Amino acid sequence: MSTKPVAPCPNCGGSNLYRSQLLRAGGGYAPNYLPDLGSFWAVARFKLVVCRDCGLTRWFAQPPALEKLDTSDHWEPVN
Ligand SMILES: [Zn+2]
Repeated sequence: MSTKPVAPCPNCGGSNLYRSQLLRAGGGYAPNYLPDLGSFWAVARFKLVVCRDCGLTRWFAQPPALEKLDTSDHWEPVN
């Protein structure tokens, strides 16, 4: 599991942050929020980080999904 450091909240600057367990990026009736970044048998996963002070929530795709961004037709670099 990724436990990389997370920058302070970009909204309020707070560092009172909470990280979720691994969450599936889709399944059942939910849309797939990380399309084309999973494997044949499993959707990609992410973790959430919530700011305890203001509630801003950030989504962090996990390394196996990140590695697929460069070669996926579903995604394009910004800039
Ligand atoms: Zn905040």
